[in-house]
Amino acid sequence: MSDNGKSRRPYVAANWKMHKTRAEAEQFFKELIPLVADVSAEMVVCVPFTALATAVEAANGSDLKIAAQNMHEKEKGAFTGEISASMLVDLGVDAVVLGHSERRQHFSELDSSLRFKLPVALNVGLEPILCVGETESEREAGDTQRKLRQQVQDDLADVPEERLSEIVIAYEPIWAIGTGHTASPEDAQDATSFVRALVADRNEKQADGMRILYGGSVKPDNAAVLMSQEDVDGALVGGASLEPESLAAIAAAAK
Ligand code: PEP
Repeated sequence: MSDNGKSRRPYVAANWKMHKTRAEAEQFFKELIPLVADVSAEMVVCVPFTALATAVEAANGSDLKIAAQNMHEKEKGAFTGEISASMLVDLGVDAVVLGHSERRQHFSELDSSLRFKLPVALNVGLEPILCVGETESEREAGDTQRKLRQQVQDDLADVPEERLSEIVIAYEPIWAIGTGHTASPEDAQDATSFVRALVADRNEKQADGMRILYGGSVKPDNAAVLMSQEDVDGALVGGASLEPESLAAIAAAAK
């Protein structure tokens, strides 16, 4: 049991998006590692493909895990510019972000391919961090639950029931990502508990064990209240993860 009475270990994922060269990544880990030596949260840093090998090496010997920000669902083939799950494992990568809203919005990532990606990631030993969430207009139209239901049910469709809790789901309202507009703690709780209930429709025990995160303008000053909500097991952090001090402060707030 953690300090707040939850049985799930808190989880904080840092999403660098398209930021940092190898030298910048190396410097970041040098500064971050001593700052987070005592945090109880599991921490994962999601770095660009080009910095993955550097990040794996820099994090070696610490408890930090390294994630990629995407992968292709096929093992190999004529897919120019793509990276397979086993290529990530070959580099020593631990996890992979799947279905981030920026990939859905700018790179036409579809639920129909996420459905294939999730079991492929699990089968090679990568921990999938699946992102779901509604747009501002969907929220205003009262469509948040419909959107979450569709994404969660479609994306997890091919994941065996007994492996559901190995997936981390990040609830990220799109209107809150990179905007400085954070969801209220109540809205974050409503959405994450709804996601957990959707997973429980398939298997209650797996839903109980699944880490469900909130993402969207999480900062050191709002992290504690968001992550203290019953069904919010941690955070997916974009902008505030680029500086070691602010990421460490957010991780320290996950108790
Ligand atoms: C993200 O990258 O998923 C994210 C939530 O970004 P930010 O924290 O900057 O809103």
